[in-house]
Amino acid sequence: MGVVPGKKQLYAHTKSLFYVGGGAIPQLSPVDFFKYLGQRYNLSGQVRPSLELLKSQLARIEAAPLKPAQKASLVRDYLLPRLLSHLQSLRMTKKALKDADRRVRMSIRKVLHMNRTSPDAFIHAPIREGGLGIISLQVHVPAIMRARMTRLIATADPVTAAVLTIPAVEKLYQKLLRWTEGNGGSTSTNIMKEWGRKLQESYSGNGLYQGNNSGISGSWVRNPPPFWSGGDYIKAVLLKGNLLPTKGIPSNPPHERMCRAGCRKTESLSHVLQGCPLTHWNRIRRHDRIVGRLRHLAEHWNRIRRHDRIVGRLRHLAENKGWIVEEEQRLRLADGSLRKPDLILAKGDTVAVCDVTVAWEGPTPLDIAYNQKVAYYSQRLVLEEVQKLYPGRNAVVLALTTKKSRTTASDWSWKRFKSYTQDVTPWSSLSCDFCPVL
Ligand SMILES: [Zn+2]
Repeated sequence: MGVVPGKKQLYAHTKSLFYVGGGAIPQLSPVDFFKYLGQRYNLSGQVRPSLELLKSQLARIEAAPLKPAQKASLVRDYLLPRLLSHLQSLRMTKKALKDADRRVRMSIRKVLHMNRTSPDAFIHAPIREGGLGIISLQVHVPAIMRARMTRLIATADPVTAAVLTIPAVEKLYQKLLRWTEGNGGSTSTNIMKEWGRKLQESYSGNGLYQGNNSGISGSWVRNPPPFWSGGDYIKAVLLKGNLLPTKGIPSNPPHERMCRAGCRKTESLSHVLQGCPLTHWNRIRRHDRIVGRLRHLAEHWNRIRRHDRIVGRLRHLAENKGWIVEEEQRLRLADGSLRKPDLILAKGDTVAVCDVTVAWEGPTPLDIAYNQKVAYYSQRLVLEEVQKLYPGRNAVVLALTTKKSRTTASDWSWKRFKSYTQDVTPWSSLSCDFCPVL
């Protein structure tokens, strides 16, 4: 490249001038560029990062046949992290970063049907702080660059220290300090807290504060329940951000903000959800559903615990009597299906396939669960596989069915078990040992 004296014109040598090991180093023409460490360089130096990639990718995500949660996740987890390194350039401008953020927010608002006036902090605040977890490039890119320079300043290397005293470098550092001012500085924890604070101050933040201490309240933002439709997710996001349309918005004149149910209160989201008599029964139903779900979960884990305790006890007793015990052995059957009985017990010429069932409390007789379980493990293919594993032994199927509570089931269940195990000699003599676990 050279400059024609007296004229403001640049010209570029396109003929190779330098050779390494007999091979020519290619010259760049005015339109050529090469990539180095993710940045593009042309004949006049580093090229300013363009937002073309961001624009095209956002357009593709918006048009993709995906659910809104998936689109938001693509932007949050794939597109923005990819841009972070791309935009860390000395030639980056604050305006370009601001523009990038604006485009990301526009896309997110479009995908999630959010109002144009919804607070930016709701989009950019981390999920833990109650937001949607979409990072702000304007905040993160300078913060990362600043943190890198701060680490360089701390270095003891004399050459690096000398480079850092160059006015241009000093100027860059000052610029980064200015850009990161008021955004929580350069550490990601502070930036997250700052967005959290901004969210609290916005009208979306009211009520989100209590959910901050655990990630559970916002885990659905990243992983919505599989049975939710796209519309459900959008409604949940709008509800979380206090963005559902009500008459109580400040742009309505005061006399038009009253509740449509006629209760002489401003129709705010909190009134509709918490105070309005019209939604009273919905509130009660929600309360009862949560209580029911908790009860269901508690019962489920009780059953699992009881099942495991009985299996453990049976195993212990059998081992003491000299049986070879395999717990949860995988039986791959000839047709490719899998069976996993709780215990397989072998001794002498007998091998016993044993499974424990803890049935629901209810009017259904335990006979049904017992017969089902015995039939399940008595299929020809199962017995064939057991005989293959324990050749020359007689296979017996034992099922122990009991109910969740000790009192109702123990007596009956044990009698069934005992009657079935009469021919397995050592077991019948153990009957009294089993009673405590049942
Ligand atoms: Zn009302």
